[in-house]
Amino acid sequence: MTSQNQEPRESGSIENYDVVIIGAGVSGLYAVHHFREMGLSVRAYDGASDVGGTWWYNRYPGARVDGPGSPFYCYTFSEELMQEWDWAETQSEQSAVLDYIEHVADRFDLRRDIQFETWVEDARYDEATQRWTVETSRGQRASAQFLICAVGALSTTNKPDIAGIDDFAGETYHTGRWPHEPVSFAGKRVAVIGTGSSGIQAIPEIAKEADHVTVLQRTPQFAFPAGNRPITPEEMAEARANFDAIRAKMYANAGGFPHDAQTRSALEDTPEQRKALYEELWQQGSFKFFLNLYNDIATSEEANQSLADFVRGKIREIVKDPETADKLMPDHYVITKRPILEDGYFEAYNRDNVTLIDLREDPIERFTPTSVITRSGEHPIDMLVLATGFDAISGTLLRLNPKGRGGMSLKERWSDRFHNYLGLTIRGFPNLFMIHGPGSPGVFYNMPLGAERQMDWIGKCIRHLREHDLGAIEPRAESEEAWGNEVSAIANATLFPRTDSWWTGANIPGKPRYFSAYLGGSIYYQRLAEATEKQYEGFELEEAHRAGDPEPS
Ligand SMILES: Cc1cc2nc3c(=O)[nH]c(=O)nc-3n(C[C@H](O)[C@H](O)[C@H](O)COP(=O)(O)OP(=O)(O)OC[C@H]3O[C@@H](n4cnc5c(N)ncnc54)[C@H](O)[C@@H]3O)c2cc1C
Repeated sequence: MTSQNQEPRESGSIENYDVVIIGAGVSGLYAVHHFREMGLSVRAYDGASDVGGTWWYNRYPGARVDGPGSPFYCYTFSEELMQEWDWAETQSEQSAVLDYIEHVADRFDLRRDIQFETWVEDARYDEATQRWTVETSRGQRASAQFLICAVGALSTTNKPDIAGIDDFAGETYHTGRWPHEPVSFAGKRVAVIGTGSSGIQAIPEIAKEADHVTVLQRTPQFAFPAGNRPITPEEMAEARANFDAIRAKMYANAGGFPHDAQTRSALEDTPEQRKALYEELWQQGSFKFFLNLYNDIATSEEANQSLADFVRGKIREIVKDPETADKLMPDHYVITKRPILEDGYFEAYNRDNVTLIDLREDPIERFTPTSVITRSGEHPIDMLVLATGFDAISGTLLRLNPKGRGGMSLKERWSDRFHNYLGLTIRGFPNLFMIHGPGSPGVFYNMPLGAERQMDWIGKCIRHLREHDLGAIEPRAESEEAWGNEVSAIANATLFPRTDSWWTGANIPGKPRYFSAYLGGSIYYQRLAEATEKQYEGFELEEAHRAGDPEPS
């Protein structure tokens, strides 16, 4: 396919491209590569100073891959990349993942089409020209037929609204915006708010150095051993030798990992057999715990209870003080919040310098310049670490708030529900594609692979439009409705929607509260393939308005 715009063209103060990409994390980087390979002109913007997204921002102590680990948290589009890159550990630390992403950017010369330290502050669709115009924080304007929103499912940080928090005069850090310079905890009294994935990774590391750590816990969590270990040269060699077979397995697996699906129900086994399996998985650790589990932990209350009881027993075994262990007992359905991998988290409560405050019994009343005051009294602190997560999945796109047909804003369109089709497109917002947005498997999938697969679908779609002289694509109303029903029907057959979590938007006041991720696993990719095969029948396709095309330079 040849592009009409191989090079960026200037027309007045507007630069014209085929594709504008917002975000230069794992997803946006692949977008730059993929669309460029198709011969399209691209421009990517990122507010960060360099590539990496999540891995550029989340530099807190203990930050690691906490899904199924390396070497399978990676791109699959280039065999050479797999052949030449060595991973040191199964749960790669943040700096190792960032090294890899930087290598990808260098190897494919991606930075030349990315502008950093530039936020896209506005995006508007023009119906006459069938193009999007974006405005940046540097006062630039760019126009493109296609807008790719690779803005991140976990990129807008969530800061809790607590009385006096801005009056606190000590150092304050959010795990999702960690400084690039080293942070010293030595001799400091540190309060940590939040015991999700980031807090549970950070707390044991901070405790090793700090004078004292006060953990302010709203929700006790189930957490599982990370099982991090070095990857042996033999394992790397095997992964390289079997790359094609491994990739095929990743494509077939519901979560995008090279594992066979489990077919056994927990209820087929006796309590003793179940305990033996849980114990074996606990000893092994890593995300394999979930991949090798029974197939009904997320759907059967009884199966769920058996695993929840096992983990609660483990917490009691590890934490020596029974009162602290009581406070750490989770009471939701296990795995209905983001499964957490830990390395020394529960053991940290056996240290003399770690105190746990259960905010459900002893809530925060306010911060002062030097302390946090809970109902039971004042706790002097020097540093506050907010491990309070993100306005996840939809939050960053809503912050951008693109304006579609008739100037309608996404905030208006999504006021009651995150209407979308295939987790990629939104009615009223032609030619806009989201990556890892609501309605897609998103955070329930190996995310680099998910981004590749979504981008490949978008590429085919763009090719179809160009080959058929079509100017715009957007979903039909009935497609969106049917997709929304499918997403909810699958979710409602599980225990996931029964627990408040960032998956259901419960951490952000005012957000539509429902489970918006597509949990159908690889059926999602069947649906994408069907849409392509059926020539996009679930969409409205509009002829190209030739008059609206920008003048070539
Ligand atoms: C600590 C941590 C550990 C994780 N571990 C795993 C794991 O083990 N496995 C897994 O699959 N996933 C994991 N994830 C999820 C991770 O977010 C994804 O794997 C992946 O990195 C997402 O890449 P992305 O490019 O889609 O988004 P991001 O990496 O979030 O990148 C989005 C980029 O868009 C930019 N941006 C947003 N809005 C704008 C705007 N308006 N203008 C300009 N730029 C903008 C942001 O600055 C950011 O750089 C983890 C997440 C965290 C926080």
